[in-house]
Amino acid sequence: MPTYAYRCRECTETFELNRPMSESGDPAVCPEGHTDTVKLLTTVALTGTASGASDSRMPAPSGGGCCGGGCCCGG
Ligand SMILES: [Zn+2]
Repeated sequence: MPTYAYRCRECTETFELNRPMSESGDPAVCPEGHTDTVKLLTTVALTGTASGASDSRMPAPSGGGCCGGGCCCGG
């Protein structure tokens, strides 16, 4: 379930809510009970999980294979 960030305009607190995407536009109530809140930019990963787990670079060419470079087949 995505996490949405909101900011309360009464106590200027920023809080997050886990709610379905279909309810992302619904009014959010701050932890203090205020209803005058605004929705911030959608940030799914706010919990600091961006540690570069998968460095998806271009895959290295698998050299040394037969019929790959046309050096040993039909030549
Ligand atoms: Zn508040």
